[in-house]
Order: sequence, then C-alpha cells, then structure tokens
Amino acid sequence: MSLREYKKKRDFKVTPEPEGGDAAGRGNLSYVVQKHQASHLHYDFRLEWNGVLLSWAVPKGPSLDPSVKRLAMQVEDHPVEYGAFEGIIPAAEYGGGTVMVWDRGTWTPEVADVDAALRKGDLKFTLHGAKLKGSWVLVRTRGSFGGGKRASWLLIKHRDRFASAEDITVEKPRSAMTRRLLADIAKVAGGNIEKAAAGDPPLVQPASKPRKASAAVPARKRIRAK
Ligand code: MN
Repeated sequence: MSLREYKKKRDFKVTPEPEGGDAAGRGNLSYVVQKHQASHLHYDFRLEWNGVLLSWAVPKGPSLDPSVKRLAMQVEDHPVEYGAFEGIIPAAEYGGGTVMVWDRGTWTPEVADVDAALRKGDLKFTLHGAKLKGSWVLVRTRGSFGGGKRASWLLIKHRDRFASAEDITVEKPRSAMTRRLLADIAKVAGGNIEKAAAGDPPLVQPASKPRKASAAVPARKRIRAK
C-alpha cells in the first residue's frame, strides 16, 4: 500500500486535493464515502488501513438491500486526509469535477486478519457512519478493469437491523459534513454548477429553501434526514 500512484496522477500545484503523508492513522479506523461527479457520477468508498485509505469506485453507490450487489472497482490508495476533502477538482485535472463527503465515520473489521482477508478477496466489516451502518462485505470477483490491472469487487450489505429497501443515495443525497448538495458545493467553489447538479437527485430543493412542512412528516425526521 503506497501513495505513489495517487501522487503520480495529480499536480498538487493545481488541484486542491491533499498531497498526503501528514496524517498517521491513530486510534479508530476512518471510513468515508465521497460522491464524485466526474466524467461519470460514482461513489468512492474508502476504508483506512495501514495509514492509507483503501479505495473503491462504486458507480451506483451503496445499497442497503442485502439482495443487491454493487460493483466496486478498486482504485489507488488515497491519503487519510483525503477523507475530509469536499470541493472542486479542476476540470482538466485527474478526476475533475465535484466531490462531496457523502458519508463518514469509522469502521471495524469483522475478521482477525484484515490483510489476509484482502488477499483472499473477502473482507467483512462493520460501518459506523452517519448513513451507512451495520455489517457489510467486499468480495473480489474474477473480473477486472483498466487492462486487467484493477480488481473488481462487490459491495454487499449483510442482513441486520440496518438493512433496508430504502434507496439511500436518493433519500439522503446531502453531504454528511456540510449538508450541501453537489450543486451547492460547485457553486461555492466556482465549479460547473449545471454538471454538478446533474448528480443531485431530481426534485431536491436547494439548502436555502427548506422543504415545505408537511403534517405527514414529523419535524424531527425532516431535520435529521441527510
Ligand atoms: Mn472518484
């Protein structure tokens, strides 16, 4: 695990993304999902391990439904500080577009030997995020991409009390860090608002215009909705 490929792909004089190497992993292992509206919308699923964020690009995002397997393409390790990055990557740079911290928290391995589980291609873990909780698994498939260089995995929710038929990516489209939508982030950072907005679910009103109060929806639920 190394940040060599991460650094090679980026010009840190141009992109505001962190260069990495400052944060040593201490205590709890961090977990983050970054919603990334680049050439294609995807969700970057990251687990801290051995001082870096192991990273998978999940085109459709996570599903709380245990019968749904989501393709997760393993990509280069990222610095631990990357988990706090929300903003704009310049259009001409690698991954150019808008990045949102869609979910964050910590994770706990459900196996005694994480490195062995990663080698085996079967990592079971518990998430303690704002949106994703409970037991999950990443399973490596025989498939690959990027000219065979990269492994394809599947991200699957285990059956527990956090499993649900709710479409979490649609129901909770906002940043776990700032409550913003992609369009809000692009606007503040001088990005392409229209392109960013294409990654927000339709019919979601901007943060400045709260949803109309409805007798059917208790106020507390509306405030807590992410
Ligand atoms: Mn990405």
